[in-house]
Amino acid sequence: MSGLSGKVQTVLGLVDPSQLGRTLTHEHLTMNYDCCFCPVSPGEEAMTTAPMEMKNVHWIQQNPYSHRENLVLSQETEAVREELLAFKKAGGGTIVENTTTGIARNLPVLRQLAKETEVHIVAGAGYYLDVTHSADMRKMTVEKLTDVIVNEVLHGADGTDIRCGVIGEIGTSWPITDSEKKVLCAAAHAQTQLGCPVIIHPGRNSAAPKEIVRILQEAGGDVSKTVMSHIDRTIYDPTELLEFAKLGSYIEYDLFGVEMLNYAFNTSVDMPSDSQRVQALAYLIKEGYEDKLVIAHDVHTKNRLTKYGGHGYSHILKNIVPKMLSRGITQNQVDKILIDNPKKWLTFK
Ligand SMILES: [Zn+2]
Repeated sequence: MSGLSGKVQTVLGLVDPSQLGRTLTHEHLTMNYDCCFCPVSPGEEAMTTAPMEMKNVHWIQQNPYSHRENLVLSQETEAVREELLAFKKAGGGTIVENTTTGIARNLPVLRQLAKETEVHIVAGAGYYLDVTHSADMRKMTVEKLTDVIVNEVLHGADGTDIRCGVIGEIGTSWPITDSEKKVLCAAAHAQTQLGCPVIIHPGRNSAAPKEIVRILQEAGGDVSKTVMSHIDRTIYDPTELLEFAKLGSYIEYDLFGVEMLNYAFNTSVDMPSDSQRVQALAYLIKEGYEDKLVIAHDVHTKNRLTKYGGHGYSHILKNIVPKMLSRGITQNQVDKILIDNPKKWLTFK
């Protein structure tokens, strides 16, 4: 195996899993989301470049992917540093930074942020959605892609010596493209070699998570050590949710703080509110899945930062945890979701 067994790998090196504390399993601290710009309806074009000021905040919150500047989180390192200090002060310990190749991963910035804030930051290896795959990368075999991912974990990524501690978020569309299938197989092969955690971004269809699990399993991946992200906007039907839960991956509700009427990436989706997310957690706990739940905000645009009137990285600790407790979720269950489950997932086998 890799010699990482029993440890968690942060951008500053290996740590004992007991040091992680409260962990958000899906965030971005620096990324660029230009790849997913959504055009606006006729007559609204001027808003796509409107200044990020108070009178425009609500429009940007409702149309976050249609505002050019909003997609460039990488310009906000100073604001993110302040947010991480606030997260630490609110009792936070660790952030899993899910930015992979294709959306401007920046490992030196992550290392700097970890040093300055003393928040543990775990970086992600691998590739985002097909739309970001380069011509060179598309030519690679599964074996070659596996080598790249293993190297990002064992030796460092993007020409640095900074090592990734998790594979993902691996991006998949719906239907899953051939190039994305290769990356999923490579992620499973790398996981087999390394015994490491994997995290997946499913396409926006309720059949997507199940199909991904099938592909990973066929490639020998360890589904029990894999997080399925964005369940909030992917599976709503309680029966379908339980069918998926039975497959054994971690289930992640990771869009806490997002309240929007129309979800531009899939207008057939009614994006749940935070209250409905808490209801979903309570339901899955009642059904026996408290050891399989993890949560986060998936901050990936500027409007989510407190600097721009957003909820920031401390929203879960400050607002969602009290709400969970008030809805019958016990402190012990909250601790499982925020501490024990992430710890178990992130520890190399
Ligand atoms: Zn993400």
